[in-house]
Parts: sequence; C-alpha cells; structure tokens
Amino acid sequence: MARHHQAVCRFCRREGMKLFLKGTRCDTPKCAFERRDAPPGMNVTRRGKLTDYGLHLREKQKVKHHYGLLERQFRKTFAQAERGKGNTGEALMCLLERRLDNVVYRLGFGKSRAQARLMITHGHIVVNGRRVSIPSYCTRPGDVIRVKARTKSTDLIKANLAEVSRDVPDFLHRIETPEPEGHVLRLPEATDTSLPVQTQLIVEFCSK
Ligand code: SF4
Repeated sequence: MARHHQAVCRFCRREGMKLFLKGTRCDTPKCAFERRDAPPGMNVTRRGKLTDYGLHLREKQKVKHHYGLLERQFRKTFAQAERGKGNTGEALMCLLERRLDNVVYRLGFGKSRAQARLMITHGHIVVNGRRVSIPSYCTRPGDVIRVKARTKSTDLIKANLAEVSRDVPDFLHRIETPEPEGHVLRLPEATDTSLPVQTQLIVEFCSK
C-alpha cells in the first residue's frame, strides 16, 4: 500500500491547522503545531499571502492529508463524486467519510486514521460478518463493523477505546460491551464531517 514517508506534522504546519494525524499525541502539548505553527522549512517564520491558485490548492491538500489519501486516490474519489447526482463537494466529503478506515477511526477503534488503516489491512476488522482488508471499502447504511473474534484484535481495540475519548458522529452508533461493535445508521451529511473545509474551492480546483 502506497503511503507518505514524510513527518506528517509538517502537513499541519503547512496547512496552518491541526489535521489530527497522530492520534492521542494531537491532543497533548507535544503537538508540533501547538509548539510552532509556522510553515515547515528552515528560517520560515510566517505565512506569505496566498494567490488564488494557492487558496484552492491548500483547501484540496487539507482534505487529502486529513483523510490520508495520495493524489491518485483523491482524484479517483473526486471523479466518483463528480459522476453522481447533486452537489459534487458534498458528495466528495460523503464518500471520504464512508471509507472504512475513516469509520473505524471515528468509532474510536483506531487512535488515528493511519492506525485504522493498518488494523484493516492486518485483518482485525469484520464488516457484516466478513473480514474486509481494504481501507477504502465504502460503507453503507446498515453495515455492522465488528472486531475479529480473537483476543489480539479485541484487546487492541479495547485498549484504544479506553485511551481515546472521541465523540462518535451522528451517522454512526458504537456499542462497547460485551464486544466493540459499530453500526452505520445513515449516509454522512455535511455536518458530520470532521474538518471545516470550503468544498467549492476543491471542486473548482479539481474541475480545471
Ligand atoms: Fe498535526 Fe497531530 Fe502532529 Fe499536532 S501532533 S501537528 S495535530 S499530526
């Protein structure tokens, strides 16, 4: 699986906002953005004025990094959103929120989206009774997400649930006992997204 090899805190400093890419560390004083919010790079102390192109690009990059996608995966998701009916920006955010790695993260089973992705590829997650090892799997209303019935998997998720106190969004429902379980109640809406973003700028950027 292709992935970024950079220090991810640089993305937060580049975008000028916390993108929550490192799990529990993001909520502690160790957060790199809390300590230094200037853009990455030697001797860079302040943010320059953005051009119109820059504004559009930064909005797209924010979303891409927040959901942990590479450019090709992001473009594929955008193309899928464009093909659908209705508002493309809202459809894009809905598709990103429906990704299995995002759902596992937002249920609190994983500390970060990166960890949620690993848990899925390592076979810890079961959807509707079948093991799913594809992080981009698109969840649907009615899907039931469980943890594989083996001690290693349940222990990992119970430890994460004990450590992470994250609110579950309205389109999901979490059951913690006796075994951790998540339900997809409906399709995610604009209010369910975890990142304040101007989707119109992304649509304009990607449609050029
Ligand atoms: Fe971003 Fe988290 Fe790193 Fe802070 S700790 S800079 S929020 S990834």
